[in-house]
Amino acid sequence: MERYSEITNKIKREIVLLKARPCIWSKCSFCDYIEDNSTCKEEMLKINNEVLDQVTGKYGVLEVIDSASIFELPKETLQRIKAIIEDKKIHTLFFESHWLYHQKVKEMKAYFGIQVICKIGVETFDEHFRNDVLNKNAAFTSIEELKQYFDSPCLMVGIQGQTQEMIKKDMDILQANFNHGTISVYRNNTTAIKRDDALVEWFMQQYAYLKEDPRYDFLYDPTDFGVGD
Ligand code: SF4
Repeated sequence: MERYSEITNKIKREIVLLKARPCIWSKCSFCDYIEDNSTCKEEMLKINNEVLDQVTGKYGVLEVIDSASIFELPKETLQRIKAIIEDKKIHTLFFESHWLYHQKVKEMKAYFGIQVICKIGVETFDEHFRNDVLNKNAAFTSIEELKQYFDSPCLMVGIQGQTQEMIKKDMDILQANFNHGTISVYRNNTTAIKRDDALVEWFMQQYAYLKEDPRYDFLYDPTDFGVGD
């Protein structure tokens, strides 16, 4: 499992995949990466410290992810990240959170005291597909409400049951409202949620230009950031 990498296109940054407590939600129908969650603090701190030791600050930008939300990292890991930010002169931090923590995001941003881009797994703006099919429990009622707390939605494309219309709407909303975002092409995993190869093929033809858009990270494979397995 790779836990440190560098993203060298678009917003250049170091990225670390840390180990966290179980995701507060843990029920998304497409998710099997919560298997990386841990309840052993000793194990989490050991791994996280080893990974964070590799951060050099070379780009001034750091992204911290885990198989849950930033809020599920141990307190000691949050303190370590804050110390690294100061030591390595990091000016921008990316982290992620589930919607359930939306009211705590401001406080977490303030804790780090630098520019923060908070990502959220929206997967799709189609409310039914997001919450009933993917069981995401991201219950925002409007884009305006979402933007009050989060800066950067992560969207997923190419899932069976998704339609071209849904994806077109998602890409329109993304481009009209967000200066940062992540588009991930779905890859089959151990869950019952399956990829729609024809939809992926259509998407890659229609939206190839988004791969070059400096505002959006584009993951054809979940490991394209260089972390994970
Ligand atoms: S919120 Fe993220 S980590 Fe938690 S179950 Fe859903 S996809 Fe998995």
